[in-house]
Amino acid sequence: MRKIAPHSDPFRLIAYVAFACLLMLGLEGWAAWQAREEALSETKIKTENLARSVADHAENSIAAVDLVLSGLLERTVHGGLAPDQAPRIQQLLTERTRELKQIQFFYVSDADGRLTMASIGGALNVSVADREYFKFHRDHPDGGLHLMGPARNRINGEWSIFLTRGIRLADGTFAGVIGAAIDPAYFARFNKTLSIGKSGAITLLNDDLVVIARTPELSNAVGQRFSPHDVFGEASPKFLSITNRSTSPLDGKTRWRSMLALPNINMIAIAALSEREALADWRRDTVRHFVLVLLVDILLAVLGVSLAFGVRRRQIAEHKSAAANAEYRLLAENATDLIARLGFDGICRFVSPGVRAVLGYDPEEIIGTKVDALRHPDDQERVAESLQKLVDGADFVVCSYRARRKDGRYIWVESKIRAISDPQTGQPAELIAVVRDVTERKQAEEKFRSLLESAPEAMIVADGEGRIALVNAQAEKIFGYSRQALIGQPVEILMPERFRSRHKDYRSDYAAHPRMRPMGSGIDLYGLRNDGSEFPIEISLSPLRTDEGPMVFATVRDVTERKRIEEALWTAKFVAEKASHAKSDFLSSMSHELRTPLNAIIGFAQILQMDKEGPLTKKQRAYSGHILSAGHHLLNLVNEVLDLAGIEAGRLKLSIERVAVRDALSHVHATMQPLAEKNGVKLGLRVPDPIDDIRADDLRLRQILINLLSNAIKYNRPGGAVTLTATQPSPGRVRIAVSDNGIGIAPALQSRLFEPFERLGAEHTEIEGTGIGLALSRKLVEAMNGAIGFSSEQGVGSTFWIELPAEAAGAGAARPGGERPSSSRSVAAAGGYSLLHIEDNPINLRLMENLVSTLPDVVLFAAARPELGLDLAVAHRPDVIVLDLNLPGMNGLEVLARLKARPETREIPVVALSAAASPRDIQKGLAAGFFRYITKPIDVNAFLEALGEALANAPARKAASA
Ligand code: ADP
Repeated sequence: MRKIAPHSDPFRLIAYVAFACLLMLGLEGWAAWQAREEALSETKIKTENLARSVADHAENSIAAVDLVLSGLLERTVHGGLAPDQAPRIQQLLTERTRELKQIQFFYVSDADGRLTMASIGGALNVSVADREYFKFHRDHPDGGLHLMGPARNRINGEWSIFLTRGIRLADGTFAGVIGAAIDPAYFARFNKTLSIGKSGAITLLNDDLVVIARTPELSNAVGQRFSPHDVFGEASPKFLSITNRSTSPLDGKTRWRSMLALPNINMIAIAALSEREALADWRRDTVRHFVLVLLVDILLAVLGVSLAFGVRRRQIAEHKSAAANAEYRLLAENATDLIARLGFDGICRFVSPGVRAVLGYDPEEIIGTKVDALRHPDDQERVAESLQKLVDGADFVVCSYRARRKDGRYIWVESKIRAISDPQTGQPAELIAVVRDVTERKQAEEKFRSLLESAPEAMIVADGEGRIALVNAQAEKIFGYSRQALIGQPVEILMPERFRSRHKDYRSDYAAHPRMRPMGSGIDLYGLRNDGSEFPIEISLSPLRTDEGPMVFATVRDVTERKRIEEALWTAKFVAEKASHAKSDFLSSMSHELRTPLNAIIGFAQILQMDKEGPLTKKQRAYSGHILSAGHHLLNLVNEVLDLAGIEAGRLKLSIERVAVRDALSHVHATMQPLAEKNGVKLGLRVPDPIDDIRADDLRLRQILINLLSNAIKYNRPGGAVTLTATQPSPGRVRIAVSDNGIGIAPALQSRLFEPFERLGAEHTEIEGTGIGLALSRKLVEAMNGAIGFSSEQGVGSTFWIELPAEAAGAGAARPGGERPSSSRSVAAAGGYSLLHIEDNPINLRLMENLVSTLPDVVLFAAARPELGLDLAVAHRPDVIVLDLNLPGMNGLEVLARLKARPETREIPVVALSAAASPRDIQKGLAAGFFRYITKPIDVNAFLEALGEALANAPARKAASA
């Protein structure tokens, strides 16, 4: 769309109007300025003329007086000054005074300045000898006319101007003065007749700048002296005529003023007119003109702006209509739809050029023909039905059908048809059809439909009222309805009665907040089949925006089969868990039951070997040796089998912590050294420095390494070598390898290496073993997030390795490995001690008796019941108590608690002896306060060591309690 340029005509018009208005104002301003200048110059001229008039009048008045004065002088001199002449002259003076209005009086003085004559009556004994003019005439024989004043005259004391001439006799002798006293008010009276407005002023000064007359009259103006500045302003006094603006020293008003110097009569005339007054007319005219111009301007502006808006509106309208026309033209020329006007008889009355694109015909070929012929025969009936709806009063109908193109090909079209009524009859008269090619859409719909049909899940589209609008084949199948039976029905028919009312609420909530709802979220849902049976389903929902309003697209999955499998799995898991618990219980009771008899077997065999009850025969020694070794073998087997079974039952409890590799390896190296020596094998250790710590269960790690090392030593040859090495193949891992140069493993057997109870032929040799070690090691390593592996060559040797996660150095202090109680004091050396043994099993009691009998100075008390044990403990305060944990009536932990509760027994070390041998049991026991925790079957050496440590502190304790 073309934009209307902002500088186009309307804006230009406004600019012109604004310019014209400004120009008018400017011209008016200029004219006003001119008029003002004119008014001012007129004022100046007026003041000059006024000043001239005042000057002329003053000069004339003075000249007239001087003429009379000159005449009088001549008479006086000619007539002589004889006294007889006096009355005649007196009369003359009086006559002349009467003739001249400006004259107050004439007077004559003698050579001494005494008045001899005056034209008014009054005292004549007045002297003018001190008057300036008298001195002037006396001293200047050719002095001529002299003007003085204003000054008070000495006859009646009024203001007078004195016009005088000297009287000289024929011989030139000074004989006095003849003078005229002129009334200053005479000038003022004349000046009053001049027109000077209300604020004008006229002033007459003498050449001493003293006021002679002022109009309008001011009370004491006469006789005041002006300063030269007041009179001449900035101009020099030599100028005879000055016109300027100045302020009067008399009334302080500023006026335009003209000054005229009158050298003939030594006077200055000043006429002044008020500028305000002078410009009053001009001002009035100017205001009038400006108001007029402003009115014209406003009128012009209003006219201009409204004109501009009119133009602008017309422009916009024209522009819009041009754009709309262009768009319509564009639409019409490029429309792919065809527009046709038809009669109810099916005859085409008009068709748009779009028919070329849609059907391939020219409009002329169609107009006047029956269009029914262009429809597919199968669709005729459907279209006829739609047209009938129009006849029945429908506003419009939309129908799609196949139409034949000129080339014979059928295309799908969608036709929107509207009936146009005859304005006279109001009956439908003709049809307007907009026809569009929708072949592609139909194909897409077809594709979508087949996709929908082949989908493995049931799909249902419901409208805003929850009525089913569309279903696919799978929906028909799982719900057992035909498509026709479902379309138009409320979706609730597909769900059991108990869900229906809740579903309606849910539906309206969903309509208010449509959103995707994925499968499997929410509660268990059920579908209702046509036959009334229910089945579990899962539903996903998504909102659909369609021409017919918002709809909901639901995908429904029958999850009967899945639920069945889930249930089966759940049952299987439950059974397995139950079995595992049973196994666990079995293992722990087995462990206890096996260890208790083994304790007796190994213990007694050890006592026999100690040889305390008199020497054994060689045979007896050998037999007891066999019992001991078989006992140990059995104990190993029990331990390992139970361990393995425990792991498999998921009972393995590891305490994974930071372990220092060097410490752990040094410890197992030292532990295995005696076995290596016994087998004539050299045992080496290589750990690089530094090496990261690892994360492992310390105890279990040693168990693994001891197992691998004992294999490497056992399956070796005399003079062979075994090396324990640690490396770090990658930053996060530490590898510990046990290498030997022993017999190696045949390739055919290697695959069975980690199978439990597989000894790979070793069972036929002298070498002892259970066949469980490697299987157990693998389980343990894997439980510690590690890996185990090997490489072996028959006759050359084997390397077994494990890898465990490393923990970078500095992340926490490492637990020192291999820290073991160092005391191995012999109980025999302690001397003078008592031991209380609380144990219910008679065989074990006997075993203890025998053990203690080997220690000199240790007295044994035995108690078969816990209560008795407690009593004995209080009575005898033994140095050490050995306590079985599995006692009748009261368990060992409670016995310990009671011992710790009593002050007499609180300090006595208590060694636990128990068949509960798991690391957790041991840890629990030590935490409860046992001094040591010895497991059954008893390891005599370990037991004696513990006993020695307990007794070592006895003397100090005794001293303290004594
Ligand atoms: P055993 O208690 O028999 O040693 P293991 O599980 O530890 O049980 O070992 C399984 C078998 O693997 C052994 O019987 C032995 O035949 C073989 N074997 C294990 N380690 C080695 C080794 N370092 N050299 C040769 N053979 C070995």
